[in-house]
Amino acid sequence: MSGLELRNIVKNFGAVEVIRDVSLSVNDGEFIAFVGPSGCGKSTLLRLIAGLDKPTGGSIAIDGKDVTEIGAADRGLAMVFQSYALYPHMSVRENLAFGLENTKVPKAEIEARIADAARMLEIEPFLQRRPGQLSGGQRQRVAIGRAIVRRPDAFLLDEPLSNLDAELRVTMRAELAALHARLQATMIYVTHDQVEAMTLADRIVVLRSGRIEQIGTPLELYNKPANRFVAGFIGAPH
Ligand code: ADP
Ligand code: MG
Repeated sequence: MSGLELRNIVKNFGAVEVIRDVSLSVNDGEFIAFVGPSGCGKSTLLRLIAGLDKPTGGSIAIDGKDVTEIGAADRGLAMVFQSYALYPHMSVRENLAFGLENTKVPKAEIEARIADAARMLEIEPFLQRRPGQLSGGQRQRVAIGRAIVRRPDAFLLDEPLSNLDAELRVTMRAELAALHARLQATMIYVTHDQVEAMTLADRIVVLRSGRIEQIGTPLELYNKPANRFVAGFIGAPH
């Protein structure tokens, strides 16, 4: 992937404007965090990028091609949801394999990818269990594993750690950083936790009421917040 380009994105639900004129270029391999208070449009924006929903206005391009013209399987994106969204009746192994089975990926390759992801995420002992038999942290690892086995160019993560307790969140944060370093994939990471964003992201996009308040590196946002809202959210002196 040579980049993701959002141009003047608008999204309305009925008469309500939820995303207002959002433009953003994401570089290959970049770790971008979307932050902002609950209801500011983070998940909506991620769903638009994933092609799960269509913008009311503007365009989203991957490698210079409009996402709506690329089939879902060819977009090179994998999404990880806050709710894990695992299939309860399938084993962990089956959850990991699901989505690869009806593709061109050969069976042996699927097995190799599952083994690799399971080793990376330390979920090998749980491959035969069902999601209901796992802790929250283990389930979240499986959800991330399911994205990894698809070998996406970009991961779209919607508050993946927010259901975990504080201690595990810190552990998983470090694991996500290591994962990003190893996979070199683009990560678009939604969070309402500014510490997560500040420690993980190359650049942070601060959203408020569907609008971008500021885009910058953690240091830029901390040292030169564009306004009191950004300063307050980032925890910078103002
Ligand atoms: P965030 O993820 O930042 O908490 P969301 O993107 O989920 O925010 O929601 C942004 C706004 O859009 C909220 O006011 C929410 O109620 C509204 N919204 C989200 N999805 C829908 C929908 N499918 N229909 C109507 N309103 C929606
Ligand atoms: Mg959300």
